[in-house]
Amino acid sequence: MPELKCGVVTCVHNKQNYCELDSIEVIGSSAQVSEQTSCGSFVERKGESYSNSSAKDASPTSDIVCQAVECKYNDSRKCYAGKISVMGSDASRTEETECATFKKES
Ligand code: SF4
Repeated sequence: MPELKCGVVTCVHNKQNYCELDSIEVIGSSAQVSEQTSCGSFVERKGESYSNSSAKDASPTSDIVCQAVECKYNDSRKCYAGKISVMGSDASRTEETECATFKKES
């Protein structure tokens, strides 16, 4: 499982730059650059609830199902990068997030 660092602090699943989900989906099946990928598991955080009072702590690793098949780290829609970064610090929609680790297979 890759280490998953996530800068999308506007997502309900973000806990101090880690993701509380055990598994996320990255979308962008025809992506050629990282900007064309998105985190399909993003859910916008509403209201003022920026506290970290979740019962569950976020683990540093997550299973990643990835539709970005043009990425060199993608093998049968699983991510085999050692660590990935999801970016989009002020995202309010899935499209405003991206897998910054995407690298097109050369
Ligand atoms: S590094 Fe590549 S394979 Fe891994 S989640 Fe990002 S786009 Fe998908």
